[in-house]
Amino acid sequence: MVTSEYERRIAARFAGFDQDGNGYIDREDFNAAAKALLAAFDTAARSDRGQALYAGAEAFWQGMAGIADRDGDQRITREEFVNGALKRLRDNPERFAGIARPFLHAALAVAGATPDGAVGVADTARVLQVLGVDGELAGEAAAKLDTDGDGRIGEEEIVSAFARYFTVPG
Ligand code: CA
Ligand code: CA
Repeated sequence: MVTSEYERRIAARFAGFDQDGNGYIDREDFNAAAKALLAAFDTAARSDRGQALYAGAEAFWQGMAGIADRDGDQRITREEFVNGALKRLRDNPERFAGIARPFLHAALAVAGATPDGAVGVADTARVLQVLGVDGELAGEAAAKLDTDGDGRIGEEEIVSAFARYFTVPG
């Protein structure tokens, strides 16, 4: 069977959310993403940054479930993801950005953002990778986001890039 590029991209997005790879997206996957980020940046779960990250992960999950979990079983299947999340968010990446922002803000703080929210290019690529963006893509995306070439990327750029990646898989 030939897998189309579109199907391959959908599968990559789903796999990014399905951190534990059990075939559906649920709260545990968001907790796993938070845990992986804390491990990648050597940050304690009990720290303020760790707590903020878990709170952001819960908000992200609630937002995604509100959009995609049609049967309310607290799991987002691949079908719910494709027909609910992707279709409804594709025309509205800002909505996705709003749902993901508290988590991303906390993730960037864990990755060493300065008070103005800027993060280094390499750390940005690492965050994207931990969150399921393909390794090569993550590096390219991070490099592209640094438009003025000063080696740092602002939070807004990261939030919109993340929203574009997950909502425009065509
Ligand atoms: Ca899962
Ligand atoms: Ca469901």
